[in-house]
Amino acid sequence: MKKSLFILTSLFIVILIVTNISFFKTSHQISGAPPYDPLDEQLPNNFDYPWLENWERPDGPPKVGLQVGHWKSEEVPDELRRLRNNTGSSGGGKSEWEVNYEIVEETKKILEENGIVVDVLPATIPPKYWADVFVSIHADGSLDPSKSGFKAAAPRRDMSGKANSLVEKMEMTYQETTSLPKDPNVSRNMRGYYAFSYWRYEHAVHPMTASAILETGFLTSASDRKIIVDNPQISAKGIAEGIMTYLESEGLLEL
Ligand SMILES: [Zn+2]
Repeated sequence: MKKSLFILTSLFIVILIVTNISFFKTSHQISGAPPYDPLDEQLPNNFDYPWLENWERPDGPPKVGLQVGHWKSEEVPDELRRLRNNTGSSGGGKSEWEVNYEIVEETKKILEENGIVVDVLPATIPPKYWADVFVSIHADGSLDPSKSGFKAAAPRRDMSGKANSLVEKMEMTYQETTSLPKDPNVSRNMRGYYAFSYWRYEHAVHPMTASAILETGFLTSASDRKIIVDNPQISAKGIAEGIMTYLESEGLLEL
């Protein structure tokens, strides 16, 4: 009797583990930011950038890099090959990159109207990419269609010392403009985003680029789609105003 109870209990535990693993895998695939690699957030032992002590911002107008999350992910170089099949979330008949692209294009228009130089970047960014601001634009996904909201994150290792200021300002203007709720569940995937890992990849931001990643809303939420899919210009206004508020605070832009 005791033995059969033991077998039954063991079987139950095995079933629990297996279903949890498959649930984890599925939910991972449809979430916004690509899965982080623990190595992307660990600094090497010989982490030393003496040349940065004398680094000065290049002359010129304010410069902003906007990354379209997952765009051309099939073209990433070998150092990022684990991201080749990472297409992100989907919803409302759209792939995530298409939604990200529309928002980036609208944001670019607003920034350029204000005299800012804008680079639109795919999943692969140029080696040691420098700009005053780098923002990676994404849309989230969940198995739970009631999950809604946006969230922004700074790199776990921010050498510019300015990423938190950028994130705060962008969160404020994004919430004001879109009226979307703020999702508090910033993930390790976001703070350990590959493009922030300048010590590990050639195709990553320059350490002095103030960087952030923004999940603009859930593609799997009908109410979020009304903004991010149907009205990308509203998302764009929230992003652009946050970036411009930041640039003004750094003395790089007069509003
Ligand atoms: Zn994404």
